[in-house]
Amino acid sequence: TAVMEKILLRRSSLLRDQQQAWQESLEGREMLEFRQNLPAYKEKDTILIAILQNQVVIISGETGCGKTTQIPQFILESEIDSARGAFCSIICTQPRRISAISVSERVASERGEKLGESVGYKVRLEGIKGRDTCLLFCTTGILLRRLLVDRNLKGVTHVIVDEIHERGMNEDFLLIVLKDLLPRRPELKLILMSATLDAELFSSYFDGAPLIHIPGFTYPVRTHFLENILEMTGYRLTPSNQIDDYGQERMWKMSKQAPRKRKSQIVSSVEDALRAADFKDFSRQTQESLSCWNPDCIGFNLIEYLLSYICENERPGAVLVFMTGWDDISSLKDKLQAHPILGDPSRVLLLTCHGSMASSEQKLIFEEPEDGVRKIVLTTNIAETSITINDVVFVLDCGKAKETSYDALNNTPCLLPSWVSKVSTQQRRGRAGRVQPGECHHLYPRCVYDAFTEYQLPEILRTPLQSLCLQIKSLKLGSISEFLSRALQSPKLLAVQNAIEYLKVIGALDENENLTVLGRYLTMLPMEPKLGKMLILGAILNCLDPVLTIVAGLSVRDPFLTPLDKKDLAEAAKLQFSHDHSDHLALVRAYEGWKEAEKDLAGYDYCWKNFLSAQSMKAIDSLREEFLSLLKDTGLIDSYATSCNGWSYDQHLIRAVICYGLYPGICSVVHNEKSFSLKTMEDGPVLLYSNSVNARESRIPYPWLVFNEKIKVNSVFLRDSTAVSDSVLLLFGGSISRGDVLLNPQMVLHLHHELISAIRLLVSEDQCDGRFVFGRP
Ligand code: ADP
Ligand code: MG
Repeated sequence: TAVMEKILLRRSSLLRDQQQAWQESLEGREMLEFRQNLPAYKEKDTILIAILQNQVVIISGETGCGKTTQIPQFILESEIDSARGAFCSIICTQPRRISAISVSERVASERGEKLGESVGYKVRLEGIKGRDTCLLFCTTGILLRRLLVDRNLKGVTHVIVDEIHERGMNEDFLLIVLKDLLPRRPELKLILMSATLDAELFSSYFDGAPLIHIPGFTYPVRTHFLENILEMTGYRLTPSNQIDDYGQERMWKMSKQAPRKRKSQIVSSVEDALRAADFKDFSRQTQESLSCWNPDCIGFNLIEYLLSYICENERPGAVLVFMTGWDDISSLKDKLQAHPILGDPSRVLLLTCHGSMASSEQKLIFEEPEDGVRKIVLTTNIAETSITINDVVFVLDCGKAKETSYDALNNTPCLLPSWVSKVSTQQRRGRAGRVQPGECHHLYPRCVYDAFTEYQLPEILRTPLQSLCLQIKSLKLGSISEFLSRALQSPKLLAVQNAIEYLKVIGALDENENLTVLGRYLTMLPMEPKLGKMLILGAILNCLDPVLTIVAGLSVRDPFLTPLDKKDLAEAAKLQFSHDHSDHLALVRAYEGWKEAEKDLAGYDYCWKNFLSAQSMKAIDSLREEFLSLLKDTGLIDSYATSCNGWSYDQHLIRAVICYGLYPGICSVVHNEKSFSLKTMEDGPVLLYSNSVNARESRIPYPWLVFNEKIKVNSVFLRDSTAVSDSVLLLFGGSISRGDVLLNPQMVLHLHHELISAIRLLVSEDQCDGRFVFGRP
């Protein structure tokens, strides 16, 4: 309306005055000078003209050249300069919440403002945004959620999708949705930004959209692989089958090498060490052999040694250490803090950088330490391209990153450390050469690097599509397979069909591919549907606490360790926790014991004695919190979560919840004279992993096992299983698991204790005579 127009014009001129005042101030001039030195600034006009003339523009440029902080600002400033500032609404997406927050803070300060004025951010559960905010940084997930209620992104003038080179599932998904939107919103501008040069793919996806490359500059970086590092430091690796006192996994003991060996000898000693430790033919340099070389083996000892070496012998400059994930980072930090040099705050400023760090800690990362103090930052791959730390001169690269992967064979996803690509390695290396020539230490042999893939597969091609399919449905985007066929790189039809079929079987989609009540709840929980199902039922049946532990346990590396040379001891240790034929309940007990021990600060000893991974325990602890808050978001439990543990002691009820989540992962137990055999419907006979508590039994007094993972080696092996009775399977597996009954909001209200008691009674009565067979329930 005319009134609105007037208000906006007024606000626009205010914005312009403010901006001019800042740019003329002393601080503002200094800041502008800094910005003008960034490579992106030199392309400012080219970029603005391209955006004016095209609906879609793709911009690539090396990390740190100023894409994220400058390009949204160029657009904003040019709108403000033309006194149209209040009319524009720019949304810039980031793959991770921490980069959305840190970038928005940075941009606000470059504009001499506080957050919530013209610049704001929004991530899940958090955000700062004001009336005048016209540049919003948010996670990709937030924009997708907005599309749910606002299909046309009304009022938005520019969408900037950042870090597209990462090819995350959400970003690929968003691009399909935006591509559909562009013809409906001809005045909407779309800008894609990438840190790598392979942007042609995006250009052709958007009908030949123009590409702008920002030329960057980095100093040369000297590269060392493991063999060079060993030579340089005079250390060598010897295989040791002992459990190390830190990683608690099989590690390589470092020992001082007497005389210096020639290089070729050292290389072969790395290979010898690998072979001696029972690794496969290492020289084959295949992906297969890669999976045998585990950076955990090199472990923290080498990193600690290198860091202290750098501190004592090298010129000044910050060190960036790329680790796989939060759990590794926190354990390494603990270890380093106990070191005489690295733990001395007058010599070393030890910081961490990962997705869940606090924002106060975040700021320290960018600051320069006092003279004589060396900054060491332990980071995940987040510092590869999303966050730039300026003064880095040394990089340590463990070569791995945590990524979700999908094994089509057993149809299960996992979040495990896996090797990065050559492109990622280059990015990591490049971090060392921003201010002066740098050094990069890769903590793996050259031959391992040679076997890396060039690029990482896009997430959409390597992870299960179940959650994505649910999202497509919740956004009402029509047929799943038709929608996905329009992706930048479409997943295989079989993978799509698998996902749809699975969602139907677990009751998230009905026959016509529409979301069920359960499906709608699952879309609110950003995790694998089976984990979401367990959380939902755990909340409804008032036994949430142990269920949180189980779900968190299924999301981390197996906390039960089985070192090869102490296999028997380790398996015996796990058996102590065994509880009525369930690996999942064993985990609950182990975790509860750890939690108790932690109270007396004895958690570490407890893990050591019981062959448990302290890292995994800590990870479970923090994931539990995260899952609880997600569950509160769904509204299934109240925000104090006071009333969801009434039956947490009831193992039969928990078993029912496990079955509800893991179905259709089920096999039948057939007893013969001395022992039993197992059969699944698809594979026929299957075996149990030797560290399953059920593997040690000669009899299982239940007719069924539910399992969360099966792996095909020579035979099909089941990992973690829980035995369940007929009535549990009948009530919680199969078609009833659709949850229309349990999740009917009326029903939830009326699910009084009596009903729960009735269910308890039903599920606790054992029916062990196996009267049900596949196909004939
Ligand atoms: P790109 O997105 O191209 O990787 P950015 O726009 O994130 O680059 O960063 C450009 C430059 O701005 C960096 O090289 C760094 O010097 C500076 N910078 C970015 N964020 C911060 C921050 N939080 N504190 C200080 N300087 C920063
Ligand atoms: Mg960036």
